[in-house]
Amino acid sequence: MMKVPFVDLSAQYESIKDDVTVKISAIIARGDFVLGEELAQFEKEFSSYIGVKQGIGVASGTDALYLALLACGIGPGDEVITAANTFIATAIAISQSGAKPVLVDVDKKTYNIDPSKIPGKITRRTKAIIPVHLCGQPAALAEIRKMAKEYKLLVIEDAAQAHGAYLSDNKKVGSDSDLACFSFYPAKNLGAYGDGGMVVTDNESLAEKVRLLRNYGQKTKNQHSIIGFNSRLDNLHAAVLRIKLGYLDRWNNCRRENAKIYQELLGTNPKIVLPNFKAGSGQDHVYHLYVILAEERDKLAEFLKGRGVSAGMHYPIPIHLQPCYKSLGYQKGDFPVAEHYAEHTLSLPMYPELTRQHIKWVVDSVNEFYKQR
Ligand SMILES: *Cc1c(COP(=O)(O)O)cnc(C)c1O
Repeated sequence: MMKVPFVDLSAQYESIKDDVTVKISAIIARGDFVLGEELAQFEKEFSSYIGVKQGIGVASGTDALYLALLACGIGPGDEVITAANTFIATAIAISQSGAKPVLVDVDKKTYNIDPSKIPGKITRRTKAIIPVHLCGQPAALAEIRKMAKEYKLLVIEDAAQAHGAYLSDNKKVGSDSDLACFSFYPAKNLGAYGDGGMVVTDNESLAEKVRLLRNYGQKTKNQHSIIGFNSRLDNLHAAVLRIKLGYLDRWNNCRRENAKIYQELLGTNPKIVLPNFKAGSGQDHVYHLYVILAEERDKLAEFLKGRGVSAGMHYPIPIHLQPCYKSLGYQKGDFPVAEHYAEHTLSLPMYPELTRQHIKWVVDSVNEFYKQR
């Protein structure tokens, strides 16, 4: 029996502990907590890592999406298109802005938004498309950008699961849209020790608007040009994220290596579908999640639990079938691919520090389950 957690944040902490302790103590001693120097530095470093000019640290990934939408002037009466299988936060941010989320089914191979199904959803109210790079795999952004240009729509990337993934040989996720939104929730590929997020963009005026919105609409002290919010990335989190950014590529490589090991050990099992693995296509995958589609998914998850393996489900109930979105008027059967995905999706343990032995135990357990059926 081997215990394999779903993620292991303490293993990561062990590797950077000394740096973190020194930096955090210094910030506390200085009393530099909000909109401080570490945040300014991290905004520069992260945006330049992504390959864009501006980065604005905010309180969460959800707020990054929300403030990005507001900065674009999107609100009541507008429609925003996104993927039917995304995390609820994408839809919530659209709703918070006052706009209506319009869902589109996903591609059978990548489980990202299916560009061919977008035009049918565009109306004269449509203002933007939010592609989601789900699980760390880039969505078909080039195609979506072309479409957006044709219909004069904005593209806002939900990059909450894809820090450091490449869209093509020299372009990263987050660098080829009007605005891109990242989350630094602790378990993301780049995670703070609490909530956090960032909007990145090359557009100076949109950046300026997000900057105003996150800080009470205040441009200079005591001058409030708009009714803004309090949504800032704390300086302590920024300090931790600066340290972690130095390891991100290495950690993403470990995730890719672990995915390869899964791929090799899982082999061909007719009961499961492995993630789309596009080696050499220019597009890559940073495996925020390692997702298989499994027959008898719930029973398999229970079985794995009994063998010490924590698996997750992202996400078992699609947005259109959530009680909170009844008002959108969707029904079961409206998004067959997303629904199939929701019913079968199982996220196996995935984090940089996972070892081959861990993975072997997980795979042996999966095989054992189907052998016993
Ligand atoms: C995590 C996540 C968000 C929201 O980020 P928070 O920081 O948790 O608010 C949005 N979209 C996707 C796809 C996510 O995975």
